[in-house]
Amino acid sequence: MFAIAKFWGKKVGRTRPLWYNTMSMPELPEVETIRRGLSKFIMNKNLKKTTILCEKSFLGRPVTGAVTNLRRYGKALVIDLDSGHSLMIHLRMTGQLIYDGKERYAAGHPSENFFEKLPNKQTRVILEFDNGILYFNDQRKFGFIKTMPSEKVAEDSFIKKLAPEPWVMEPTDFYARLMRHKNSCIKAVILDQTVICGLGNIYADEALFESQIHPERKCGTITQDEATKLLKAARMVMERSIDSGGSTMATYVKADGTRGDYLEKFAQVFRREGKACPRCGTKITKIRVAGRGTHICPHCQRRNHD
Ligand SMILES: [Zn+2]
Repeated sequence: MFAIAKFWGKKVGRTRPLWYNTMSMPELPEVETIRRGLSKFIMNKNLKKTTILCEKSFLGRPVTGAVTNLRRYGKALVIDLDSGHSLMIHLRMTGQLIYDGKERYAAGHPSENFFEKLPNKQTRVILEFDNGILYFNDQRKFGFIKTMPSEKVAEDSFIKKLAPEPWVMEPTDFYARLMRHKNSCIKAVILDQTVICGLGNIYADEALFESQIHPERKCGTITQDEATKLLKAARMVMERSIDSGGSTMATYVKADGTRGDYLEKFAQVFRREGKACPRCGTKITKIRVAGRGTHICPHCQRRNHD
């Protein structure tokens, strides 16, 4: 029954693996990875029945129909049905999507649920397809599934306020957006999803390192050239992440049951304090910027531009 899907390992048992509780909210690349992964299992499949185990986790009315598309808006996943309805899924801090069919596919906040019999006490919504069951688990209940007519998705209040993602944003537009926040530090501004959509803590640090910009610099000191470099770096670091399965995905368990540390393969500075900068060899340091743990190379990313 527990066939091994791409991200699957053997049961880890009661001992909490190292990655447990270490990951925060999934970032855009993780949700994009989930979108691609889940598509393989539910595309063209018929959603027949919805069981709501927690009222708070399901907004709107249950809907039925065959899946025609899986879309993503920032960190929201949207499943379109041929009945003209859509399900919008927000995983937030502890949400998980676990699909059980011939194979199991699990994504979202990593926990033992990936390996356990479902539903369990963290299961909030059960979506039954004609080839399997999709469980929405959410320990802390901040995530939710919301149904709406497909044509209303773009007007949803969450989606409406999102800025364009780095792939569609023009460098001049990005620069203009930064200049609206001249006195704020660059890291805080690029984390603001109404300025640019998709950068969370990991990718903000990686993109700033890649473009050699100190996270505490005021936006007013950033040049158009630097903004262009930063935008390109943001695209690059997130693409690299999506290609390797997203940071939380690969922090899941490998086929042999050990922890796969995706960050080790991918991150140049994030959670690498004390290690050598891959560019110049200076020790990477961790500082606090905009209330967030921030990783920089003090040599490559200079503060004194203002
Ligand atoms: Zn360096």
